[in-house]
Amino acid sequence: MNSPERLSDALAAFSDLRLYIDGQWTSGATGVNEPVVNPADGRTLGRLPHAATADLDRALGAAARTFPAWSMVPAAERRRILLEASRLLRERSARLALILTLEQGKPLAEAQAEVGAAIEVFEWYAEETRRLYGRTIPPRAIGVSQVVEHYPVGPVAAFTPWNFPALTPARKIAGALAAGCTLVIKPAEETPATAIELARACADAGVPPGVLNVVFGVPQEVSDFLLRSPVIRKMTFTGSIPVGRHLARLAAEHGLKRCTLELGGHAPVLVCDDADVELAARTCAAGRFRNAGQVCVAPSRFYVQAGVYDDFAVAMSRAAAGLRVGDGLDPQTTMGPLANARRLEAVQRYVEDAQASGGEVRTGGGRPDGAGYFFEPTVVTGLRDSALAMREETFGPVAPLVKFDTIDEAVARANSLSFGLAAYGFTRSALTAAHLSRHLSAGMVGINHLAVSLAEAPFGGVHESGYGSEGGSEGLQAYLAPKFISHLLS
Ligand code: NAD
Repeated sequence: MNSPERLSDALAAFSDLRLYIDGQWTSGATGVNEPVVNPADGRTLGRLPHAATADLDRALGAAARTFPAWSMVPAAERRRILLEASRLLRERSARLALILTLEQGKPLAEAQAEVGAAIEVFEWYAEETRRLYGRTIPPRAIGVSQVVEHYPVGPVAAFTPWNFPALTPARKIAGALAAGCTLVIKPAEETPATAIELARACADAGVPPGVLNVVFGVPQEVSDFLLRSPVIRKMTFTGSIPVGRHLARLAAEHGLKRCTLELGGHAPVLVCDDADVELAARTCAAGRFRNAGQVCVAPSRFYVQAGVYDDFAVAMSRAAAGLRVGDGLDPQTTMGPLANARRLEAVQRYVEDAQASGGEVRTGGGRPDGAGYFFEPTVVTGLRDSALAMREETFGPVAPLVKFDTIDEAVARANSLSFGLAAYGFTRSALTAAHLSRHLSAGMVGINHLAVSLAEAPFGGVHESGYGSEGGSEGLQAYLAPKFISHLLS
């Protein structure tokens, strides 16, 4: 399946990377470009052109010009186009997964699963256009009709990171298009080719020229330019808290634009004495080391009750040590490289701090030999809550374990950080499960499993993890504004 022909076909996607502006594939006006690097071997896959301000202006102009017509396209027609895009993506999914692994590094099986999830997102939003309901409100006087209708908010600026190059752009593109918004999206420069292929499928499916625009450049410069424009009425960003805060400030200062902010987290896991420890360890290892730990909802700090602490540490270490680190294209690989050198340095720092503060590295802790941004799956025990790996979003293959005595104490410790994206509990008690679901402070809670990212469910956080949802009916509402219409019939 991973034949040389297929591989060279996927590699060809990097030979002519382009911006997509007003229906044209273009190299932009700057003449500046940057390398796109395979994180498994450090080699350059291709060069990505940067947009000049003139290119960004054209993208904004196109999004503004096409908004009135696109917002009036009947929902049934938008549904048809989005379903056609999902059909084309399914047809192209094997190639898309290879492209994704080449530029991002995750094992091919994970890339295939991500592409499948991105397709589901297109399908979900396509179907959700059928449910763009308004409502009537009983009037206070005879002869008055009162209705609420939902209108698309206007052109959208979207910014997505490199850890899910298919799924995150899909959420923003499909959500905005389904609602009747036009958009300018800046996917991560590290992983552009997957997003470009999503745009190609949309164009081939009949999204009119100018409705969807894809640009690249220096992130700060592009976002600054787009968010200062009065054309943009909504901003949606997935990434780190400091950048999200900066973009929200810009959005507020320039037109009080609406925002959806998905800013990552540091998901606590409470493993209780009555949990199925083997299941918990297996599940947690799979979740923690998926995508080399670079997942915003990954279980990432582990509070384990005293009675099962040692057993859990052994089982988790065994599962981590059993992973095979390597190039994502190798079918034997179960964990790929980190996405870039920045992540490698950060992860090294967390492990060094853990060791300096008395932690015991039970497995991993270092870099395997060879090129590429690889780091071993690492489990550390004997830590305090004050260790950096317990306090900061590690975004890498590090699992720090601490001990707790009572559930209330563990919940308080889990809730003590300013993150609030996902949280998890492992217990056989329905009562404890209900207690954790209610009291863990997070936008998503998983009990005895980690399945919190679904096209049909709201995905988003509380506190500094951001606000607004993607997915579910809430995901579509994020691109709509209610209009109350009161009509005295005369
Ligand atoms: P970063 O904050 O520099 O970048 C994160 C993403 O935001 C990248 O894709 C980048 O291109 C983009 N970005 C950065 N500055 C921007 C700007 N001014 N305007 C628009 N986009 C901008 O961080 P990084 O070094 O790539 O990753 C570090 C941390 O980011 C991670 O530890 C993690 O906490 C967070 N992160 C979160 C997610 C998520 O899914 N929520 C994804 C990637 C990274």
